[in-house]
Amino acid sequence: MQASASFPASQPEPTGDLARGTAPVLEVFASFQGEGLYVGEPQSFVRLAGCPLRCRWCDTPGSWEIGDEHASARIDGVKGRRRESRWASPFQVACWIAQVEPGAPRTVSVTGGEPLMWPDFVRELAGFAGPRRLHLETAGAHPAALARVLDVVDHVSLDLKLPGDLDAPEEFDLRELALRGLAPREPSPHGAAEWAEARAECLRLVRDRDACAKLIVAGGRRPEQFEPLLESVAEHAPQLPLFIQPVSPVRGETAPDFELLTRVVECARRHGLSVRVVPQTHKALGLP
Ligand code: SF4
Repeated sequence: MQASASFPASQPEPTGDLARGTAPVLEVFASFQGEGLYVGEPQSFVRLAGCPLRCRWCDTPGSWEIGDEHASARIDGVKGRRRESRWASPFQVACWIAQVEPGAPRTVSVTGGEPLMWPDFVRELAGFAGPRRLHLETAGAHPAALARVLDVVDHVSLDLKLPGDLDAPEEFDLRELALRGLAPREPSPHGAAEWAEARAECLRLVRDRDACAKLIVAGGRRPEQFEPLLESVAEHAPQLPLFIQPVSPVRGETAPDFELLTRVVECARRHGLSVRVVPQTHKALGLP
């Protein structure tokens, strides 16, 4: 079933079992993909709220919290910007997607936050996406949730993160989830060993699919720190296109210098990986 702009603009907040497929939506807007394999493609973006991870160079810390009952979603429609209730069903979000598209249906990028906190939502959204491709951007920390959505998404963009770039995760408040009729989420990895296991499983899942990996590189890191991540890609998904993404400076984190980028790229090439260096182009162009 294809979403249409004539669908109702809002729905009552679901409770109990009905809440299973709902998710907290931060914003829905149309722009151009700024990262990874589909860089430059006109896409619509559904940014979901909620992320238990704490990447030091996170450029969307406002997406970490689910938000309380007063929180809203920003809908940047072709007829103007408006606010809606944050918790939305997949059907409602499909309506918003249709409303933000400036022309023909676009690929939909589901991003966050960490969209794998809401696998039921992603699955059900696919059923309302009509002709649109569904792309998933994930930190690659929750393999069970990834496995749950893999058959309904057309592309997966998987982040690779240095253990030293991650502060301890902060899981969602279980009482808050229970109040919304939601079960606990898949736990996030703690420490380098658990991260390595989660990453390997996620890489195996996307191996030989339409997918890519993004290695975010911040300044001041040593090239050899990246070797275990690159080894992991070479071992579990050697054909996966790898995009090295220099950090856009944020909260004291600086962009990597030329030497660091060169040494990480050469390390990836030694492992036989197909590698490109691509910065966040939407940031360079001042796009949303
Ligand atoms: S996974 Fe994404 S949203 Fe979560 S902290 Fe890291 S960069 Fe930010």
